[in-house]
Amino acid sequence: MSKYCLLTNDVETHSIWFNTLRDETGVKVLEEGMPLLLEIYKKFNIKSTFYFVGDMAEKFPDVVKMILPFGHEVASHGWTHEVDQAFDVLSFEQQKEHLMRSKNILEDISKQKVVSFRAPALRVNQHTPRALIETGFESDSSVASQRFDAFLSFGGLKKLNWLRAPRLPYQTAADNLFKKEMVR
Ligand SMILES: [Zn+2]
Repeated sequence: MSKYCLLTNDVETHSIWFNTLRDETGVKVLEEGMPLLLEIYKKFNIKSTFYFVGDMAEKFPDVVKMILPFGHEVASHGWTHEVDQAFDVLSFEQQKEHLMRSKNILEDISKQKVVSFRAPALRVNQHTPRALIETGFESDSSVASQRFDAFLSFGGLKKLNWLRAPRLPYQTAADNLFKKEMVR
């Protein structure tokens, strides 16, 4: 059996250096980061998935448009990367609203159907699977299976669930992204 791996990218204005969201970082992503990354992927003939934050796509639509000629997938990284609006603190209705807003803007810009999601900072709660289903998403990549991240990032305690999450892709339980749906 041949081995494979998936390379995916979150595209956002979060500056690691300043630990905050900055438009200057968006400009850097657009002018420096993305062109370089796209060139590397092209060189090795890699097709990837890019998870864009919705409000960044609204401010910098060209950052979405530039991946289209290469055949990569456009996906959603939520509406905003603000720490106080992460999916683990949003209600069910708010999650659906963030998902729809980001899906709509990304589909408008890319003319692709957007069906893949990764939560900002990988923070999710029990409402997230249902919110995703009801807004037409088909895959989620918010669970970093087997990774130990506790206390090193926001929402660290919930991320302990990663340690027991299945390693290979799975059909999620309707109220718990960390668990496989029971086969009936
Ligand atoms: Zn992110």
